Amino acid sequence: TQHADGGKWFEAAQNYAAKMYQFKKKAAKAKEAEYIEKKKAELQKMREKGALIEEGEGWYMDDRGEFYVKPGAALDLDIMVTDLVQEVIEAKALNLDELPMLKKKAKSFMDKYHTGQVVTYEEAQQMLEITWPIGLMECICRRERRGMYNDPMAHTCFSLGVGLYKWERWPETFRGITFLSVEEAKERLAYFNKKGCVHTLWTFYTPYIGGLCNCEYPTCLGIRGRVDYGIDGILYKGEYVIVPIPDRCTGCAECVKFCQFGAMSMSRSRNKVTVNMQKCFGCGQCLVHCPNTAFKLLEREKALGVRDHW
Ligand code: SF4
Ligand code: SF4
Ligand code: SF4
Repeated sequence: TQHADGGKWFEAAQNYAAKMYQFKKKAAKAKEAEYIEKKKAELQKMREKGALIEEGEGWYMDDRGEFYVKPGAALDLDIMVTDLVQEVIEAKALNLDELPMLKKKAKSFMDKYHTGQVVTYEEAQQMLEITWPIGLMECICRRERRGMYNDPMAHTCFSLGVGLYKWERWPETFRGITFLSVEEAKERLAYFNKKGCVHTLWTFYTPYIGGLCNCEYPTCLGIRGRVDYGIDGILYKGEYVIVPIPDRCTGCAECVKFCQFGAMSMSRSRNKVTVNMQKCFGCGQCLVHCPNTAFKLLEREKALGVRDHW
């Protein structure tokens, strides 16, 4: 609810709006000379005080592990995510002392510039109604990590909103983009949902929402980064958690196949499914695929034990 006036933040139209996009781009790309100068002066002061502990091309990190894009710099967000996750993976294997700071740095970058959140199928449908235009692009995770180049099965990322007006001018840069009507996009979404993909939204300079993805573990860097590498800001849990309805469960175990977060198991003695609510991301895929509707989605805020687990 941080970026909406009550309600779910991603249902607030302003988070998809031209004004938001231009404002964020202005701040980031710093067309305003005044803004650039102010930020440059701040940066210089930090250097002098020794509070700047790392600097890269276009970015810097202060001694609290806060990540910033340098004034006027334009970072490739996808490349930056990959680099930051790579740093965490390497530190896990080779340098545990550095791990807490690197995780902080990654979280800070993601929270500010490029974070994700799990949404249910119904929420994803609503998102497609709020924003325009809608493009379908090749999934960078499937392409880079599974070698799925020019494969229609890897066209799973909806690009949303006014950012696309710029992209339309350079289609060759945007991974085989196809523009879709709302109805076409919903049909595609239904297809991914049936396949068992987890729907995730993505910000491009938070809170501007520019992407709606259809993901799978372990290919998705967002799911993997959160579940396996413990990078909190890379992908937040959804607004719901799942609650089983044991009386309706016949123990077929179909739902377990569709949980990409390792949150479900079968109780051998009861022949019923069990959910670990701490691990549940609220994607709703178990409910979608249960033949007996033996689950309900509960608002996270009402689930006392996990209401603060995002
Ligand atoms: S977030 Fe999901 S759909 Fe988007 S690029 Fe990664 S795996 Fe592909
Ligand atoms: S799919 Fe439904 S009926 Fe089958 S184990 Fe899961 S909850 Fe029970
Ligand atoms: S238990 Fe169900 S809702 Fe929770 S993460 Fe697994 S599939 Fe998604």
